[in-house]
Amino acid sequence: MADRQSGAPARRVRAGGGDLASADGYDLVVAGSGFGSAFFLHEYLRHARRDARVLVLEKGVARNHAWQLEHPLGLQREAQRAIDNRTSKLWVFNLALGGGSNCWWAATPRMLPADFELRTRYGVGRDWPLGYDDLEPYYGDAEHLMQVAGPSDDTPFTRSRPYPQPPHTLSRVDELLKASFPDKFFHLPCARPTRATGKRPPCCGSGVCGLCPVDAKFTIANGLPGLFSDPRVTLETGASVDAVDVQAGQATSLIYRSGGREQRARGELFVLGTNGLFNPHILLRSSLDGPAVGRGLVEQLSVDVDVPLAEGAFPLGSTSMTGHGYAFYDGPHRRRRGAALVETWSVPLFASPGGPLRQRVKLKFIIEDLPLPNNRVEVSPDDPTRPLVVFEERSDYAMATLRRVGRDAETLLASLPVEKEVRRKVNNTESHILGTTAMGVDPASSVVDAGLVHHTVRNLVVVGSSVFPTAPPANPSLTLCALSLRAARRLLS
Ligand SMILES: Cc1cc2nc3c(=O)[nH]c(=O)nc-3n(C[C@H](O)[C@H](O)[C@H](O)COP(=O)(O)OP(=O)(O)OC[C@H]3O[C@@H](n4cnc5c(N)ncnc54)[C@H](O)[C@@H]3O)c2cc1C
Ligand code: SF4
Repeated sequence: MADRQSGAPARRVRAGGGDLASADGYDLVVAGSGFGSAFFLHEYLRHARRDARVLVLEKGVARNHAWQLEHPLGLQREAQRAIDNRTSKLWVFNLALGGGSNCWWAATPRMLPADFELRTRYGVGRDWPLGYDDLEPYYGDAEHLMQVAGPSDDTPFTRSRPYPQPPHTLSRVDELLKASFPDKFFHLPCARPTRATGKRPPCCGSGVCGLCPVDAKFTIANGLPGLFSDPRVTLETGASVDAVDVQAGQATSLIYRSGGREQRARGELFVLGTNGLFNPHILLRSSLDGPAVGRGLVEQLSVDVDVPLAEGAFPLGSTSMTGHGYAFYDGPHRRRRGAALVETWSVPLFASPGGPLRQRVKLKFIIEDLPLPNNRVEVSPDDPTRPLVVFEERSDYAMATLRRVGRDAETLLASLPVEKEVRRKVNNTESHILGTTAMGVDPASSVVDAGLVHHTVRNLVVVGSSVFPTAPPANPSLTLCALSLRAARRLLS
């Protein structure tokens, strides 16, 4: 038990001590311990019997906060070795207890109602099999669990309850943008707390949130601390799930490797939450290979606009990213080109050689893309244990928005005290892995239904950002957590 959160090697631990015999069957077997799995498990345990038995199989090991501070890129390096990436585009994720919560930046916008109805409203992409109103209560629950800081009275989406924490202080740049675009510019909601909460201190604005030095941003470890120590839960780290065994249309076990041996975990209900590269890979290796499995790998396209500010103009926001611009997000333009969401980032002081100190602000344009079938995850004939990742093209829909970024940035910059030489850089990754086990109503074009249940194997649930059927610009994690809470509650109530 003592080593569970450390850099300890793979192990199997049952809360309260003692190992379980691997031949036992479980009520629930969960693959992965990132956002999708953890929020499903949290909700499952709230409703499950007191003697329920749950097994969590996690491929990575537990790396505590201290280990991560000593090895800043350690988790990402370990992750890259686990995939066979055939293109120059990066796919960034963590393989460890808590998954992407270890390295995310904790931006937590909701999606807009229109994002769920892209086909109906604008004739492109697909509709989601559920709408904003179906998810709204679960958004509130996920925000409560993460203790999201945001404005309760001024958001671009409707809310049925206030944010649990007050918003961060806008930067001076945000205030100027808010004055120019009062209905299109908002506080950026985030799981970086403005007030101390549980194990988490308030955010101190140090701006390196990928690995928060004071452990303020929400992680599975600091925000859901009782999850894996619940007496009903057995956690096995270093356990890499390879396949689902399906007999007569029902999943009967997960097949996994641990300690160099192939093993089986038998159960009643199974959850795959192993991210957008491994979820489809596991299904493909299980011969659950419908036409949509692994197809439509997508993430948003992002562009940094780096803006040196005039002398004496300091942003002074109270966290790393403080503002959200919606001027280019929703509207009739989405018939022809993707939505763009603009994040404002305060970045550290820099000195011009021999000149005064200046500060910069970064405007990050996050551009909607569409899933295309040629972008995909496959099983490699050379090494079936590593997902083969192929990303061939961006949609014309995203590229049309990319071509407008210069002009749209000028519109925003007109309100700001800008020095010359604004620079733009297209990023190689937005660190969101979407679309490879899409949700939908038609099994010919999707893998799971609106409750995240596999279309044909009805005791198999797939969670996480792989279920997104489109890629709107809002960061995905809050939405995928709300989907997990909803899926668990519908299965158990
Ligand atoms: C640098 C960075 C910054 C980010 N910032 C934000 C942000 O600000 N806002 C936001 O919304 N999102 C952000 N994201 C994205 C966010 O991390 C992902 O959306 C989220 O982690 C996806 O959740 P998931 O449950 O699908 O997968 P994950 O959280 O990746 O969880 C998958 C889990 O499965 C485990 N696993 C993998 N394969 C196997 C296997 N075969 N067997 C068993 N276990 C396995 C992994 O170790 C991991 O624990 C960021 C990501 C990165 C990399
Ligand atoms: S701004 Fe600093 S304190 Fe706040 S979450 Fe990011 S790294 Fe942590």
